[in-house]
Amino acid sequence: MTAPGFLTVVGLGPGKADWLTPAAAAALAAASDLVGYGPYLARAPEVPGQRRHASDNRVELDRARFALDLAAEGRQVAVVSGGDPGVFAMAAAVFEAIESGPAAWRDLDIRVEPGVTAMLAAAARVGAPLGGDFCALSLSDNLKPWEVVEARLRAALGADFVVALYNPISSARPWQLGAALAIAAELRDPDTPVIFARAVGRTDERIAILPLSEARDAAADMATLVLIGASTTRRIERKAGADPFVYTPRSYGKRA
Ligand code: SAH
Repeated sequence: MTAPGFLTVVGLGPGKADWLTPAAAAALAAASDLVGYGPYLARAPEVPGQRRHASDNRVELDRARFALDLAAEGRQVAVVSGGDPGVFAMAAAVFEAIESGPAAWRDLDIRVEPGVTAMLAAAARVGAPLGGDFCALSLSDNLKPWEVVEARLRAALGADFVVALYNPISSARPWQLGAALAIAAELRDPDTPVIFARAVGRTDERIAILPLSEARDAAADMATLVLIGASTTRRIERKAGADPFVYTPRSYGKRA
């Protein structure tokens, strides 16, 4: 009899080794097979005898099916994702594959191990911009039409949410962030703080806090999370040379 297979979708966090949860580290260590995008696999500590299956970052559903096949064969599989696996990442692809796949996949031991998502890491770097109500959008229109992205962005900005933009820009999607910032400029005050948090938790981390009137898409790349403040989001200036704190108060108007 073969050992029972399982599949855990593991969140690696944004990049810093100590932002990997102990539970995620344990799930990586327990796996016989790691499946994921090459640069994410490289972040997982080496385990003797463990097999690594690197793939490119595009065809998530194929990768999910490959991982499910391994688990169905009795392998102990960890599918790795940056940040949290449930936020614009592999966990949804695994469940989509299960829903449309062989009935036996539904009976596999499937787990999701959460991680620190980029939005939370970015917010922590500048203060507490997500202190009020917020909303997260992926600007990628690979998987949904731009009209949907634009309608959601307008609704979120119109409802005065702080807006976190994942996947703001890439060589295949060069104009979407510029378009999103132009929509924000229509609907929000020019002084609204915009945070460009690049590669948070990695050695090449870079954080910029700009007023919306000066926010340009050139400040972002694929590894950047963009946060657009709400009307209530504020800057606290500090001594020359120090970055301001940015926060969104939890209360409106009435103060104790
Ligand atoms: N599952 C990931 C998000 C995947 S979508 C998570 O929970 O964080 C990929 C997008 O996430 C990138 O385009 C970027 O917008 C954001 N991102 C991922 N890691 C990041 C990091 N270390 N710093 C800033 N943004 C990051």
